[in-house]
Amino acid sequence: MVYTPSKEEMDEFVMTGKGIEAIEDSLADLSLKLYSARKIRNDAKSNEESFFSRAKNRAELDEIILDAKQETKAFLGVNVYEEPVTKVVGLSDKILFLPRAIYSSLKSTIEKRKVNGKLIYGIDNGYDAYHKVIRFNPSNKAEAFSEYAHEYDHYLQDFFKLVKPIWRWNNFSFLEGHARCVELNVSLDKTEKMDNPAFAVYSLERFLGEMKSAYKHYSRKMGRGIKEILLRISCPNDNYEAKLVYDLDEPSDYASGAAFFTAKEAEMGKSVYTDVLLGKKIV
Ligand SMILES: [Zn+2]
Repeated sequence: MVYTPSKEEMDEFVMTGKGIEAIEDSLADLSLKLYSARKIRNDAKSNEESFFSRAKNRAELDEIILDAKQETKAFLGVNVYEEPVTKVVGLSDKILFLPRAIYSSLKSTIEKRKVNGKLIYGIDNGYDAYHKVIRFNPSNKAEAFSEYAHEYDHYLQDFFKLVKPIWRWNNFSFLEGHARCVELNVSLDKTEKMDNPAFAVYSLERFLGEMKSAYKHYSRKMGRGIKEILLRISCPNDNYEAKLVYDLDEPSDYASGAAFFTAKEAEMGKSVYTDVLLGKKIV
């Protein structure tokens, strides 16, 4: 198996002056991007043909999937000789999928939630490393692109042997942080190519909700003052993240992992995402 750092090593790296400053810079920069993306989304939503409408059919969705695959591989500068199967799932598929999910070696399909004091696992869209299948059900075309880039990055992690065969051995914070940051980078690159900042709106919302949570958590652990202005933008996952920190005293694996890779990207540049796929030790 390819080396990946432990959660402790990742946390330690974030909780350096440089690490937390990189998170502050990212929050400031991406908040501005999200404000302008939301303005455009609100205008475009009423337009049936806009990329905030659902794909008309599987063929249209397949085009987006192919595009997301190519953009993700181009961003990382990698190639693969085998591609995963993609299944577009409805709710009933997700329920049927439940027993098999136990075998999935990747927790992107299995999400930790604490309900009435018990830790339970819920099934969501995701990459299933056991069957080499990407399952997803995007609500619109812009979201489909970002979501697919994320799940496809998990496939690449598996292809390059970062995913361990027994799911409990995996460092999910590392895997989710990598996927979240690759998804965001690819989506932002796409906005440039399309000359439309709204295309990355969903990716920005997820990322910023998580990054605010990580920023508060790590600042508190470090005994460091928080810049409230960086937390002003509201995101759909704010409550989910706040509940996790309240229940488990840590942000989601997505949040801590994205914080780590944001700090690492500031230090090493965007090659860090490829470096780890190729097994380079980065902490
Ligand atoms: Zn994931």
